[in-house]
Amino acid sequence: MQINTNLQHLDGNYLFTEIANRTQEYQQNHPDARVLHLGIGDVTLPLPQVIIEAMHRAVDELAHAETFCGYGPEVGYHWLRQAIIDNDYTPCGIRLTPDEVFISDGAGSDLGNLSDLFDTANTVAILEPSYPAYVDTSRMAGRQIIWLPCKAENNFHPALPAQKADIIYLCFPNNPTGTVLTRDELTQWVEYARTNHSIILYDAAYEAFIEDPDIPHSIYEIDGAKEVAIEIRSFSKTAGFTAVRCGYTVVPEETGLQAMWSRRQCTKFNGASYISQRAALATYTPEGKAGIRANLNYYKQTAQILMDGLRTLEYTVYGGQNAPYIWCRVPTPDKDLSVSLPSPTEKMSSKQ
Ligand SMILES: *Cc1c(COP(=O)(O)O)cnc(C)c1O
Repeated sequence: MQINTNLQHLDGNYLFTEIANRTQEYQQNHPDARVLHLGIGDVTLPLPQVIIEAMHRAVDELAHAETFCGYGPEVGYHWLRQAIIDNDYTPCGIRLTPDEVFISDGAGSDLGNLSDLFDTANTVAILEPSYPAYVDTSRMAGRQIIWLPCKAENNFHPALPAQKADIIYLCFPNNPTGTVLTRDELTQWVEYARTNHSIILYDAAYEAFIEDPDIPHSIYEIDGAKEVAIEIRSFSKTAGFTAVRCGYTVVPEETGLQAMWSRRQCTKFNGASYISQRAALATYTPEGKAGIRANLNYYKQTAQILMDGLRTLEYTVYGGQNAPYIWCRVPTPDKDLSVSLPSPTEKMSSKQ
């Protein structure tokens, strides 16, 4: 046996483990410090009642022989795939068939697993900074990474790669910078991919935070994108499903990859849990939609409070609109660590 030595080229720790370790060390050395965690985020609000009830009902179905079900379709239940199309795509003028929608146990798994479809010799373009899964997955497969820097100088909008990128990970609204792409900017990426026969893996985990009507929610709003893009979405951030685990990936027929992905999923993934798929279906009920909207508004307000607070302290802040993330230039540690932030609880209560 020989190990996959590519795994030795990963950074020692998964990014968020590293942040947790450093935070713990800091707190041990500064037991009185009040630490605001701005590292890995998570949803904090409980799920809307209608979703909880759907899960309870699903559990009860498993308790009786007449309603019990075992393995479901590996690619997800038809009723959920159809609901996704009807609610998330048809209203935007995007036509898809249920065969092009694959239910997952979250976007994180698919973002990594999609790597199975492509030759390891392919180059991968990744935004810098980015969600760590794209980088680690590419390194595990031994692929060459082309970095696309996103900095204040380019307003955190990546330039098209100067060399040919075969696989392109894009994430908009962006985690972590909070940036969004306009229709024209996204069109340039689709055209790049069409010219270069690349594939775009479009992570739209935060599309529900988009408010501006000119910002596309889906890459398929761009002409020709169905030939060159796979879109990955999740109920995690949209509907607070980080613990429930459900997401979906759209692989259009036109990519020529739909049958391959189906084959791969049937072999290596036996489907998302029945209970989580029932929960996901309940997100599309009127009560589900209203509950989710209320929760999203809370997260947006939190981002607004942080932005206002940081701007009051004269920090430069990016993002925060059409995205839950804000990106802020921090003071150089040796220069200015004594800055005192207003109490977040005071600010929150005065705002809400
Ligand atoms: C949270 C997150 C994911 C993963 O979501 P899960 O569906 O919970 O696996 C994927 N992409 C981005 C950018 C995220 O922030």
